Formats: sequence, C-alpha cells, structure tokens
Amino acid sequence: MFKQVEIKVLEKDDERLRLLIQGVDVPYMNALRRTVTSEVPCMAIDEIVMVENSSVLQDETIAHRLGLIPLRTDLDSYNLPEECPCRSEFGCNLCRVTLALDVEAKEGSITIFSSDLRSESQTVVPVSDKIPIAKLAKEQKIRLEAYARLGKGRTHAKWQPVSMCAYKYFPKIEISKKCSVCGKCVEMCPRKVLIKTDNKIEVHNLMACTLCQDCAEACPENPRAIEVSGEEDAFIFSLESTKALPPERIMAEAVKILDKQLKELEGQIKVKKSEED
Ligand code: SF4
Ligand code: SF4
Ligand SMILES: [Zn+2]
Repeated sequence: MFKQVEIKVLEKDDERLRLLIQGVDVPYMNALRRTVTSEVPCMAIDEIVMVENSSVLQDETIAHRLGLIPLRTDLDSYNLPEECPCRSEFGCNLCRVTLALDVEAKEGSITIFSSDLRSESQTVVPVSDKIPIAKLAKEQKIRLEAYARLGKGRTHAKWQPVSMCAYKYFPKIEISKKCSVCGKCVEMCPRKVLIKTDNKIEVHNLMACTLCQDCAEACPENPRAIEVSGEEDAFIFSLESTKALPPERIMAEAVKILDKQLKELEGQIKVKKSEED
C-alpha cells in the first residue's frame, strides 16, 4: 500500500519523542495518533472506598483528583480487567493495584501530595511525588483505599498515556529566481527558519517551520517568490508522555495495536466477500 516507510528519530528523551516518518499518508498518521490517545492502555485510579473524610472537599472531588494522577504503568505484569482470567468485577492482583491514603493534620494545616499515596506495588506508583491532592486544616483527616486498573483513553482521558500527540506535514520551502532578496520574509518568520545572505535567502532551520505562511504573505513579488507547502508523504510526529510509559513503548504499543486492528478488518472484509460470492 505504501512506498518504503522510513522513520528517523529527531528527538528523544524520557518524556518526548519526535519522529520523521516518510512514505505514509494522512489517514495512516491520523490512525496512529488516535491509537496513541485512545487505545494504548495505562494505569489510573478508577474506584475509591472512602473510610473517613473530614476535609472540606467532597468524596467525589477527591476521587476525581486521584483518578487524574498519572501512575507508572507496568504493561507486562498487569491485564486489562476485561481480558483478565479472574473475570471478577473486583479484580485480582493481575488486574488491580491498591493504593492507600491515610493522612491527618495533627499540628496545623497541611497539603496532601501524591507522595502520601502508599501503593501495594513497587512499580505502579505516581509519576511524581509533588502532585497536590487536598489541603487539610488542623484535626482534619482523609483515609481511603483507591483501586487502579489498566484502561484506555477512549473510555476516559485519565487513561491516556500522553499529554500531547500530534503530527504535521514535513515542510517544503521553495524560493524562486524572482526573489529580489528584500529580506521581508526573513523578518516576518516567527521561527527564524530563513536567513538572508549577501545575495540570496537560505532555509536555515526547516524543521522549525510551522507552515504559517507569514513569509509568503510578506513577499512583495507578484507572483510570490517564496512558496511554503507540506510534503505529501512525510510527517513530523510528536508525542509527550505523562511518564506513565516511556514514549518509545507508547509508540511500539500503538503500532502493534494498529497492526492487529488492520489485520482484523482485513479478515472481516474477506469473510464478507466470501459470504457474498
Ligand atoms: S511558513 Fe511561517 S514558520 Fe515557515 S518559514 Fe514561513 S514564516 Fe517561517
Ligand atoms: S520576501 Fe520575497 S522577494 Fe523578499 S526576500 Fe523573501 S522571497 Fe525574496
Ligand atoms: Zn484479574
């Protein structure tokens, strides 16, 4: 279906991944993006049992805040509840992790942070110790048990393993011979993509181009001497992990899931066709 697909890593660290993907089209890139945001599972707190809450916050508010705390996810050790052999609505130690919170403001007002959550698992813990959950005035107390499960972003955004996932066309900038080297496009570019040398305009930092067209609109020539467009089959794909999973694992899982879904679709089409024949 596609030409030879080529992937180049432009940037990678613990949280971010930026790839140049060549040889694919927009529907594939969009499917990949949606798979990352909706299908790659991660852990999040899904239920709580409130034992004691004398804070000013309602139980539901505390539950909502707990649900949105990103948890480090161990995809190799836990099952999605719907796929777990236990078939129990309460879950088992293969599909559920219990975290406890037991904090009392004994001497004065305090803030409860994610570091106060005690997980029964060494791997499934909040990604940061510094996420505030609630404030307690003197003698107020919160005591609860929270249950985390694997889930998917299509059910609730708390199960999205990314805080950002987007793609853009790989930019293409063409400067024609009609260019008078007036430098207006260089001045207009907010990303400093272009530079003016003695007798021509050069593309200095193509990757930074956002395809905003400001440079082309500033060109006084008629027709314009600068044209900015996107390559039809090359894209810059960026994602930022919530730290629930490493960015490269999110990408690998997304490709695996998309591949499986496409194979299932192909199988269904074949069945339909043979029924019609
Ligand atoms: S399209 Fe926008 S970002 Fe790209 S070179 Fe022109 S002005 Fe700069
Ligand atoms: S604005 Fe147009 S004419 Fe002026 S330097 Fe840029 S491309 Fe050349
Ligand atoms: Zn289970």
